[in-house]
Amino acid sequence: MTTDPREHTKQTLAQLGIKTPDAIAQEFAELRRQFDQENINFIDIGVSAHDQSAALRLYWLGRKAGILSQITNNWLKTAPPELKPAVGQELNKLKAHIELVLEESLNHFKEQVDLQLGVPEDLSLPGIERAFGTRHLIRQTFEELQRIFTAIGFSVVEGPEIETPYYNFEALNIPEHHPARDNMDTFYIEGARSSYLLRTHTSPMQIRTMEKEKPPVRIVVPGKVYRRDNPDATHGYMFHQIEGLAVDTDITFCDFKGAVEYFAREFLGPKTKTRLRPSYFPFTEPSAEVDATCHVCGGKGCRVCKFSGWIELFGAGMVNPAVYGFVKYDPERLSGFAFGMGVDRLAMMKYGVTEVPLLFQNDVRFLRQFP
Ligand SMILES: [Zn+2]
Repeated sequence: MTTDPREHTKQTLAQLGIKTPDAIAQEFAELRRQFDQENINFIDIGVSAHDQSAALRLYWLGRKAGILSQITNNWLKTAPPELKPAVGQELNKLKAHIELVLEESLNHFKEQVDLQLGVPEDLSLPGIERAFGTRHLIRQTFEELQRIFTAIGFSVVEGPEIETPYYNFEALNIPEHHPARDNMDTFYIEGARSSYLLRTHTSPMQIRTMEKEKPPVRIVVPGKVYRRDNPDATHGYMFHQIEGLAVDTDITFCDFKGAVEYFAREFLGPKTKTRLRPSYFPFTEPSAEVDATCHVCGGKGCRVCKFSGWIELFGAGMVNPAVYGFVKYDPERLSGFAFGMGVDRLAMMKYGVTEVPLLFQNDVRFLRQFP
């Protein structure tokens, strides 16, 4: 039988000339072969094969005009009583076979669809490139400064940016009437002279550390500080500082000078020389401005050093004994030095940046220059 199964099963067994159970079995075997062939044709076609599988099911199992319904009507119902059991048996076997195969095909298609939806990656394609960030120039400078000082025994501590006037001023020997405490210069939180302010320097951590720790103390304090400056090429309302403090029983001015010289050589190069100019800070006595020979011209004079040969590095000095009184350190027995560096200024000077706003505009064309 190679005819169309639909046309073939429209005829009765008598019309087809089928008279024995063997002939019936042959008829069903042929139908099964035809079904299998049609099913194989649909497998591996892809997603749309799902729809074709549904069409196959309708063609064979459809209630109204499916092949199996036609067999029931035209073969089973009209068969002579002696052939009915054979037709019924073969019909049930064919039906079970078709249902099983169609279910397997459907599962196969589902797997195909899952594969196509779930694993879209082609591992041979180039990946999505995401630009790597780099450390900001200020962060790089902080890390360099910390490396220089931790190498000679300092440890790094950080403290709060919101401070009390006591830690920011009083305990650092900056009295009530000092102009730095004016709210023209300092950001107070919720009204003038309230109980909190934005720290104007990292020095409060000197006090906080000495309150907690017995001498010897050797710390550097990196962080942000805030002052009420109008932003221009050399000022912002926020800048970065690194504070240093060393206190022990035998620290002399020589140690102070040695630390300063060591720092200048590490930061600006081995040939750098330093000089100290007298200055004034309430929390150090004596106080000094530390200058270094210009790293660009080596001291001959150039635009960077304004033709003086020297550049200003930072302010420093021996800790004012009055400060020890606030932290219950014995000023008769202890001595030490402290310094406070403007990190932004040091970075600008070293790397030739001319304007403060460049540091914080996040323009990648600028930032990319300091990978
Ligand atoms: Zn110079």
